[in-house]
Amino acid sequence: MSESVNKIEKIQEFLSLIIDSKYIILIGHVNPDGDSIGSLMGFKTFLNNNNKYAEAIVPNKYPEFLEFLDNKKEIIVYKEDEERVRRSVKEADLIICLDFNSLKRIDALGDVIEGARAKKVLIDHHPQPDPVFDLAFSDTGVSSTCELAYRIIKDLVAVKSSGLRPVTLESGIAFYTGMMTDTNNFANSVHASTFRMACELLELGVDKEQIQFAVFSEFKEQRVRLMGYMLYENMKLFPECKAGFMLITKEIKEKFDFSDGDSEGFVNLPLNIKGVEVSGLFTESDDFVRVSLRSKGGFSVNRLSREFFNGGGHERAAGGKLHIPVNEVENYFLNALKKYRHTICYDNVNSIKEEKL
Ligand code: 5GP
Ligand code: MN
Repeated sequence: MSESVNKIEKIQEFLSLIIDSKYIILIGHVNPDGDSIGSLMGFKTFLNNNNKYAEAIVPNKYPEFLEFLDNKKEIIVYKEDEERVRRSVKEADLIICLDFNSLKRIDALGDVIEGARAKKVLIDHHPQPDPVFDLAFSDTGVSSTCELAYRIIKDLVAVKSSGLRPVTLESGIAFYTGMMTDTNNFANSVHASTFRMACELLELGVDKEQIQFAVFSEFKEQRVRLMGYMLYENMKLFPECKAGFMLITKEIKEKFDFSDGDSEGFVNLPLNIKGVEVSGLFTESDDFVRVSLRSKGGFSVNRLSREFFNGGGHERAAGGKLHIPVNEVENYFLNALKKYRHTICYDNVNSIKEEKL
């Protein structure tokens, strides 16, 4: 079957699922970021504007700087209201999962979703999606889930018989935000289609300065001071591994009155340095150490994370978890990098792209 026929059939199938559903729930991933909240709210608003009852659910709280996308406080947090979410999942006719490729990425909520009777649709841009979804729109060639979701909505609306109304300004603001944050402000994973979509959203009335302001110019003082501290006092460079390393311990968190989202973007900073090709930011929490990885050049942090950090992600942006004492993290990171490079030297199939390391 040709790709375009397949695409038309998938859109038709999704359209039927939406039309036949009275109650739709949208699921975002753990530690929701701009693309997660943007795609949830963009899609939810689109469905609501088409007279569909839809709820957005996330496993845990999203950072403060994204509150402007949820003015009416409609997003339901599983950790804060498990009973309600269980009820919603039970009653839902359709479940749309956004910006994650495996039910493992939604922690305990994964088991709840897995047991649901409703059909599960995936809209996502991560590689290697799990085959648990009934219908999957999975495309790594887009900037963000917001871009993919927007494209799918356009395809749905283009079906003449659908009677669906197109995206409104409110959806546009949410989608623009996710696209902007997931590309690190239009720096990474940007394609011609990304700019085309940005253009359409600006024409729809999206105020890009207002979004820039909300996302990048409303930080609390302690967050900016923490960034200075991390760069001046905390960051270590390991030239032999072409790596940068930062560690936020509980002690540092306390000193800077840290809340979730405060370290957003920090992991990119070591990559500004010539010769640094991989960067790791490690954050101590109660149960584990959160891992955030970025790279430039051909280094696959997705693979690094899958092999050593119990996680995954994209080729140049990945994350995971470590269950080791915080004082062992630096050594673990260094050893992982050394082993990883050793492996790729002996792995003929996958080494082609990465040999230039
Ligand atoms: P961040 O560093 O911003 O937390 O995560 C970067 C990317 O890595 C995310 O967009 C997501 O794709 C992926 N990621 C982060 N944490 C995990 C994790 O625990 N497991 C997996 N599989 N992917 C993760
Ligand atoms: Mn994303």
